[in-house]
Amino acid sequence: MKLGVLLLSCTGSPRVTDFDRAWVHRVVGHVAGYFLEQSGGRVNMEFRVFDWFQLPHTGQEWNDLGFGAGPVVKPIVEAGLGVDLSPYDHFALVIDKFDAMLAAVSPQHPSYVHVGAQSLDPALLQHEMGHFFGAAHANRDTPSGPEEYGDPYCVMGLEGGKFSFVHTPLNRSRPDGSIDVTLSDSGPGMAASTLRACGWLELGQSGIDISGQLASGLRRATVQLDALRGGPAPGAGEKVCAYADGVVPGQRLLLEFRSRDGWDRALPQRGAGWIVAHLTGPGNRSAMSLQIGAVEAAPGAAVVTSKGAVQISVSAASASAVTLTAEVMKPVPVNRAAPAVASWSPNRLDLFGRGLDKSAFHKAWANAWHPSSVNWEALGGLFTTSLAVASWGVNRLDLFGLGLDKAMYHRAWAAGWQPSWQSLGGQFVSVPSVASWGPDRLDVFGLGLDQAVWHKAWAQRWYPSADGWETLGGKFIFPPAVVSWGADRLDIFGVGLDKAMFHKAWGDGWFPSSSGWDFLGGGFTSPPAVCSWGPGRLDIFGIGLDGGMWHKAWAQGWFPSQEGWEPLGGRFLSPPAVACWGSGRIDVFAVGLDGAMYHKAWANGWYPSPAAWEPLGGIFASPPAVVAWGPDRLDIFGVGKDFSIWHKAWDQRWHPSPSGWEPLGGGFL
Ligand SMILES: [Zn+2]
Repeated sequence: MKLGVLLLSCTGSPRVTDFDRAWVHRVVGHVAGYFLEQSGGRVNMEFRVFDWFQLPHTGQEWNDLGFGAGPVVKPIVEAGLGVDLSPYDHFALVIDKFDAMLAAVSPQHPSYVHVGAQSLDPALLQHEMGHFFGAAHANRDTPSGPEEYGDPYCVMGLEGGKFSFVHTPLNRSRPDGSIDVTLSDSGPGMAASTLRACGWLELGQSGIDISGQLASGLRRATVQLDALRGGPAPGAGEKVCAYADGVVPGQRLLLEFRSRDGWDRALPQRGAGWIVAHLTGPGNRSAMSLQIGAVEAAPGAAVVTSKGAVQISVSAASASAVTLTAEVMKPVPVNRAAPAVASWSPNRLDLFGRGLDKSAFHKAWANAWHPSSVNWEALGGLFTTSLAVASWGVNRLDLFGLGLDKAMYHRAWAAGWQPSWQSLGGQFVSVPSVASWGPDRLDVFGLGLDQAVWHKAWAQRWYPSADGWETLGGKFIFPPAVVSWGADRLDIFGVGLDKAMFHKAWGDGWFPSSSGWDFLGGGFTSPPAVCSWGPGRLDIFGIGLDGGMWHKAWAQGWFPSQEGWEPLGGRFLSPPAVACWGSGRIDVFAVGLDGAMYHKAWANGWYPSPAAWEPLGGIFASPPAVVAWGPDRLDIFGVGKDFSIWHKAWDQRWHPSPSGWEPLGGGFL
């Protein structure tokens, strides 16, 4: 590359900096040294800094030229300075006027970079020249999605936000004798991902392919990495990068060690340097760079990447090399049943699970856990599936489960437990679903041996009879979800044999008919979850064929459409759980690929974003169960890897902490 640096001012607009051509020459020489090192000797940048030149344009005329200025001013400078610019293939237009700041490569004329003289420092020029060589921005993954320029470990990160340092030989003296360091910012080096985009890091020569080891049964690889100080020279023997394809589908994982010296001397003062993980595209010069984790290079330090769930643990580190182990975290199989939970009033929770002996257990919250935080009340019975619970009012609970004879069993609490479990007849293959639209009203549903939905209601007595059930037709592969938005209204959702969603409603009669179901499209690998924040409103969630969350709403019509679904991102091992604590508010939870709980909320928009999820920590072996006892209150439960139940609450903040969970003991299937 041959770079011409043009120092420009405008007519009628005085310069606001005082540096001369010689100082700029030293800056650009420093930048040329940067690229000589970063490129492993592949790029020997030639450059010339031309003398200050006042354009015939006023400041306003310059602004009007915008990114088209380069080809316009080049012949004017040539004529005015009496120089030949034809040998130069790239130009830096350094413009010195009060409102010229920062820098950008011209989108129309990509061999010109516009630089505000007040911002001219090596770190900025290194970034902009990186664009000339093929690098794009170094982004960072955050809980709310990728943050552009957010990677501080690369010069292609944000000016002022990356780990740059003051290159003291470029400091200048002010007239009062003090030292001006504002234009001396330099570095840091480039990440493996951006070096590849420039064609300066050949993985075949300088990388260690750990794709096979991470995909094997062990899911683990231990490697020794030399410090990455730019791309190694052609033929050099250092191994500066470990890479794996397939850990994140369609992308390439890059692991590098950045020693805290040279261009990286400003990396945070922990360990011998930093190990940084990036995702990039699989292509040879993919410009994509997403930082997904960083950990200090100190024995015992570890981090789990925000995508792919790769745990990076450091076992040895010096200024020149590290030994690290990368392990794809095994998800815990999510094969246990979610607890059943209900709340009949503020400050009251009732929690049920099927114990290791298949009988029912209960714990209640009423200012404290009863019988205690770790103990459970035994409720007997013998169940083949998890339990379902509903409460139609204060001091009332109705609990349902399937017995060994496949019949539905029921036991109620009304200021005391009914003495025993009662059979309600029927033959079922699914967990029961239950809803109540008001006092003394229950509606119970389950999938029969024919995979159709069967229904029984309580209104002073059981309908159609004490042991009889009404068939509602259909054929489903998961238990149905049911919700009531008000008296005399029920909405039931199920996933059919074709994995699409189907719907039936009760409003003084079954719609579309007693055996018919309305087709809602989609493709699902989980049971649906549904909630209603008030009359006329429904929100339905399910895990799609892609492992992500999908959503549809009813508000006088289906949104986004009768058969369309809104994608909400994420990748999940469990079905969703959802609660509404007030009008216009939805909270949805599910277990992610790393076994942790994830959360997204609706309040006039999705939080943290339509695609991103808030990580809540934990490692779960069951789907979540969630309940809201009132506004701004949520209680979430799940069965952990250790068979016990864990709890987290929201009341304007997370308890016990955003990533912490309260142990509630017990042993549950
Ligand atoms: Zn940029």
